[in-house]
Amino acid sequence: MEQKSADYEGDALQERMGRPGETDGDGAFASLDRTQIMPRRASRMVRIGTVPVGGCAPVAVQSMTNTDTRDAEATLAQIARLANAGCEIVRVAVPDQTAAQALKIICAKSPLPVVADIHFDARLAVAALENGAQALRINPGNIGGPAQVERVARAALAHHAPIRVGVNSGSIEKELFKRYGGPTPEAMVESALGHARMLEAHGFHDIKISLKSSSVLHTIAAYRLLAARSEYPLHIGVTEAGTLMRGTVKSSVGIGTLLWLGIGDTLRVSLTAEPEKEAAVAWEILRALGLRARGPEIISCPTCGRTEVDLMDMAEAVEKRLAGVTDTFKVAIMGCVVNGPGEAREADIGVAGGRDKGVIFRRGQVIRAVHGREALLCAFMEELERFLAERAQAGMDKHSGAS
Ligand code: SF4
Repeated sequence: MEQKSADYEGDALQERMGRPGETDGDGAFASLDRTQIMPRRASRMVRIGTVPVGGCAPVAVQSMTNTDTRDAEATLAQIARLANAGCEIVRVAVPDQTAAQALKIICAKSPLPVVADIHFDARLAVAALENGAQALRINPGNIGGPAQVERVARAALAHHAPIRVGVNSGSIEKELFKRYGGPTPEAMVESALGHARMLEAHGFHDIKISLKSSSVLHTIAAYRLLAARSEYPLHIGVTEAGTLMRGTVKSSVGIGTLLWLGIGDTLRVSLTAEPEKEAAVAWEILRALGLRARGPEIISCPTCGRTEVDLMDMAEAVEKRLAGVTDTFKVAIMGCVVNGPGEAREADIGVAGGRDKGVIFRRGQVIRAVHGREALLCAFMEELERFLAERAQAGMDKHSGAS
C-alpha cells in the first residue's frame, strides 16, 4: 500500500474516509445488524424486583458479589460498584443465618434486585425472602427433601420471588450420571427439568433455569436441548471460566454463540476477577452482537509498521477518560492516516496519527490537523471534552424539550 501519511491532503483523505453512513466492501461490516441473529426463543417472563427477565425483555446483565455477605457494608459497597459497571441483578451467597440476617440491610439499601444463592438449607431460603431477597437461586434436589421444597415454593410464592433452578455439571444426580454415562448435556437437561417439576408440583412456575459447565461445547449443547424443551427463561453462562483473559474468551464464545442462536434471557460472565469486570465483559458481548449497548465503543487499530502515534498510550488515556460514561457513541483511535480514518469513518469522533501531522475527525469530517505526537494527544483530549460537553447539552435540551 502506498505511504501517503506524510503528505496527507484533506480532500484526498476525505475521499478515502467516505461520508457517514456509507458502506463499501470493508464497511459492509457496519451494516451487519440484528437481522443476522437467529430470532429470540420465546420464553415466559419473570420479574426479579423491577427487572423483567424473559419474554421480550432485554437480556439482563447479572453478577455475583464475592464479599462476605455477613459484612453488609462491604457487600453494599461492591453492589454499588457493580451497578456503576452496568450490572442489573446481583446475586449474593447466603451460607448461614448471619448472612441471611444481613440481607435485611443489604436488600433495603441495594440499588439492584438481590438474588439469594442458597444450598442445602430451606430455612435460609425462607429467611432470605423474609429479609428482602427478590429471588432465589437453589437446587431443589439438595434443599432437604420434598417437604422442604414445598416450604421454599410456598415462601417464594408469597413473596412473588422467582427461583432459579441452577444445575452445574458437577451437581448431576447419581442416577442420571449413571444413566447418561456422565454429566452429559442430556443429563444436565433432565436434572434441570426434574428440579423444575419439583417446584411445579406446588403450583410454582416463576422459574428460571441455568445449566452450567466449564466446557463451552457442553454448555452450548445443553442450553440448545433445554431451549427446545422448556419455555422457562434461561440464565446463561459458562461456569468457572477462568481468569480475566481466558474467562473472557470462553464466556464470549459460549454466551455469544447462545445469544446468536436466540437463546438466553439473562447472563452472567463468570471470571476469576473483580465482579465489575464480569459486567463490563457482559456488555461487550451484548454490544458485539448488536443486542444492547452501554457506554462508548472504543475502536483502536492493532498498530503496524505504519503506526505514527503512541497508540497504546492514547487508547489508554481515552479509555480512562471514558470510564463510567454510559452514553453510547463510537470513538476511533487509529495509527495512521493511510487506512485509519477510512476504517473508522463511522466513528462519532476519532483521531489518526500522521508522520508530520495527525488529524482529528468527527463523523467522517476532518475537524483539526495537529503537528507533533504530544500535541495530537492533547488536542484530541480537548476535542473529546468538547464532544462530551455537546452531547451532555443536547441530552439536557432534549430532556427539557428545548428545540
Ligand atoms: S490504521 Fe493502524 S494498523 Fe491500520 S495501517 Fe494504519 S497504523 Fe497500521
